[in-house]
Amino acid sequence: MEKLFIYNTSSRKKEEFRPIVEDHVGLYVCGPTVYGDAHVGHARPAITFDLLFRFLTYIGYKVRYVRNITDVGHLENDADEGEDKIAKKARIEELEPMEVVQYYTNRYRKNMRQLNVLPPSIEPHASGHIIEQQAMVSKILENGYAYQVNGSVYFDVEKYNQKHNYGKLSGRILEDLYNNTRGLDGQSEKKNAFDFALWKKASPQHIMRWPSEWSDGFPGWHLECSVMSTKYLGEIFDIHGGGLDLMFPHHECEIAQSVAANGKESVNYWMHNNLITIDGQKMGKSLGNFITLDELHSGAHQALEKAYNPMAVRLFILQAHYRNPLDFSNEALQAAEKGLERLFNAIKTLHKITESESTTGFEIKEWRTKCFNAMSDDLNTPILIAHIFDAVKFINSIAGGSATISYEDLILLRKLMNDLVFTILGLEIVTENNKSDDKLDDVVHLLLSLRHEAKENKDWALADKIRDELQNKGFVIKYTKDGFEWSLK
Ligand code: ZN
Repeated sequence: MEKLFIYNTSSRKKEEFRPIVEDHVGLYVCGPTVYGDAHVGHARPAITFDLLFRFLTYIGYKVRYVRNITDVGHLENDADEGEDKIAKKARIEELEPMEVVQYYTNRYRKNMRQLNVLPPSIEPHASGHIIEQQAMVSKILENGYAYQVNGSVYFDVEKYNQKHNYGKLSGRILEDLYNNTRGLDGQSEKKNAFDFALWKKASPQHIMRWPSEWSDGFPGWHLECSVMSTKYLGEIFDIHGGGLDLMFPHHECEIAQSVAANGKESVNYWMHNNLITIDGQKMGKSLGNFITLDELHSGAHQALEKAYNPMAVRLFILQAHYRNPLDFSNEALQAAEKGLERLFNAIKTLHKITESESTTGFEIKEWRTKCFNAMSDDLNTPILIAHIFDAVKFINSIAGGSATISYEDLILLRKLMNDLVFTILGLEIVTENNKSDDKLDDVVHLLLSLRHEAKENKDWALADKIRDELQNKGFVIKYTKDGFEWSLK
């Protein structure tokens, strides 16, 4: 198995990744709260953890990837006050809350497909796990780390912090939280303003409610992730990811809940992607720079000079390391578009160029090592992409006649470019008319290069099988001095 080093937010250093079970990985990522369209900010965690999912799978792990849908309990502010975001949307639109959830979940999935983000293995809804959430509240109460007030249950942060370290992930200190929230004391029923809701009693007009021993109410937002991650991945699992904006309070509260309920932390590696700014500013509705992914792909927003291809957006995001900030601008997106075009043109050229006696001007095996070393070094995609563009230069110089490539290297380079660009980085060639043709061409070339490999390894049975199956499906393969051509009967 290829080694992988990842930066663990919890230990604040890069560590070699060692899964709990040899070749399996449990990965949990906080998904969207589905009360509105996905925006530019959603693209980054989705693509970051899609990259991780793809790379882990590529190097041989069986990955169970759980990404939740938040459809209850996420209130308008972090102080556990205000309306539920979904219930509010349902009230304004005169819809059932679950209609809002379904509508925006469908739209989120469509946006993810456009960005070529693979669907997770399990996509659990918070509203489908109320019983499990209630069980966790009971456990935390039993263990003495929560208290009841007027039918609501709150986590007792101060009590927890006497024995454990609240703030260990984000580096916050409880004393600072006292000072920051002092003015808020007395305004709520909580003992301390920084305590957080495990269960909230529903007000009479609150639509989303479930019976419980404490009140008719709903779970606190942080609870769902503690519950659903451990339900599907085990009491202790490998990796928990999410955006940096979720580190505090959301992830900090998840840790506290797990320790309070089960006596131990449930996550071995915490990973956080950095955030996106737009023209140097934080994205916000009031700033007029709140851009949804649909607007980005259609160009229908005043801040956009044009529509952007989702693959250019994907490349743009991958060109920065996931832990670095990333600034979104028309200029940067247009540069990514140009880069994407150069890359895809080179890949097309790579399928047309012919082999020579030997390779000059490029060490393919050395290049492969550098590419995989970059990925293994905490998913260093900017370095990987720089190496890929070195190969683009080489491909163009073969086409221009100033370099040559041997048959063996040509097959290897085709396979590696395919693996790195399409399988690992998850870019795909999308044009109006040739989307399926290009994909088919890639698949036929892939099968024929596998057949070539089989012949090299004297595995005649496999080589014949690939040839016969292609023939049976109506493919006519013509071997030429440049390699091969194919057509359909
Ligand atoms: Zn979460």
